Amino acid sequence: MLFNTFIGLKLKKLITQLAIFFIVIIIFFLLIQNKNNKLNTKIENVEIIYEKNEFNNELVKKRVKQAAPTLKINVKPGDTLEKILKKIGFENQEIFEVIKETKKKFDPKNLIIGKEITIKYENKEKNNKSINSIFIPLEFNKNFYLEKIDENFVAEITSKKTQKRLVKKKGVISDSLYLSGLRAGVDKKAISEMIAIFSFSVDFQRDVWRNDNFEILYEEEFIKYNKANKNLGKILFANLELQSLGSLKLYRFESDKGKIEYFDENGKSAKKLLMKTPIDGARLSSGFGMRKHPIRGYMKKHQGVDFAAPTGTPIYAAGDGIIEMKQRYKGYGKYIRIRHANGFKTAYAHMSKFNKTPGGRVKQGSIIGYVGSTGNSTGPHLHYEVLKNNIRINPQKLKLPSGRKLKGDELQRFIETKNLIYRKLDNLGVY
Ligand SMILES: [Zn+2]
Repeated sequence: MLFNTFIGLKLKKLITQLAIFFIVIIIFFLLIQNKNNKLNTKIENVEIIYEKNEFNNELVKKRVKQAAPTLKINVKPGDTLEKILKKIGFENQEIFEVIKETKKKFDPKNLIIGKEITIKYENKEKNNKSINSIFIPLEFNKNFYLEKIDENFVAEITSKKTQKRLVKKKGVISDSLYLSGLRAGVDKKAISEMIAIFSFSVDFQRDVWRNDNFEILYEEEFIKYNKANKNLGKILFANLELQSLGSLKLYRFESDKGKIEYFDENGKSAKKLLMKTPIDGARLSSGFGMRKHPIRGYMKKHQGVDFAAPTGTPIYAAGDGIIEMKQRYKGYGKYIRIRHANGFKTAYAHMSKFNKTPGGRVKQGSIIGYVGSTGNSTGPHLHYEVLKNNIRINPQKLKLPSGRKLKGDELQRFIETKNLIYRKLDNLGVY
């Protein structure tokens, strides 16, 4: 009622004015306080603010560079850095300078197929482009980076920190060691290497049967936070439990001369004069069916053993020796014969092509040719013969002079290595 009277209205106006007055005073004081704070901050942090400004300028510059047009190129077979840059249409002089600088760090012809190259550039007048930076992923944890700094290209190789872990895997063979290993989660390269170290004593087409067992212990290197990007380290131990040949355990050991070799439980070298599987065993077709096949096994008439593998599978020299024949030879098709020590010879038939390397001396395990189906052959396979004093013998029954056996201090050291490997095996679960 009071506010509706004349006095009431005056009072209302007065209260409003007082309220505004106080609000203005409070804001004034707040502003002063704030200003003081700001001044204090400025005085105390002069240097930091100065640095920040500089840093921001750099950031702005970088941002301009990062915002530059970017090309992402997937490396295809036959690509070199030079080819890629020419295709994009950079100037020849600039490409020349980039290649010259790149060569200081790595061979720009050795790009890894499937990896993605990132190129940042600037558009210049007359449709010309100019390179700002190039990023190339290299093997495993290494990257190549080239950047234009003050009109000059500077290249560097950076490597990410890695960590190591031990991996133990076990499994039952249901088709081939290679496929069963893959299913058990063994690293691809690790299985291939395991097959290679057993290739001296195991015929991977005939000696490995269904329900045989395998075990492997190896090191794996990986980049922190990126366990998908791994690198195979040392294979410390590999074991095959075969129904045909029994238990075969091999241990990695560095000899007194610093050579890395694999030895069996008694310290005998895994290496033999001749390999029992002179082919990339990882690519062999499942051996089980073959084992029973009359033509595929060794027969008096057939006088060799066959390894069924896809065309193009590498064939290895079974032992050190001298190539004495390398030609098309009757039903054998493309044929190589090698003379080894102790009156042994080995022969390889039906190749799709020979390796380019000239004839003459070959080292055990070096590639001499590739699987094919030339001559009298019904499908791609390697026909392999072993001859002793020029008479064909059954490679399956071949008794070869045993390899090097460790002795004395070296044997003692091997036993210690072996025990250490056992401790590692005991302490690790299969994962
Ligand atoms: Zn054959």
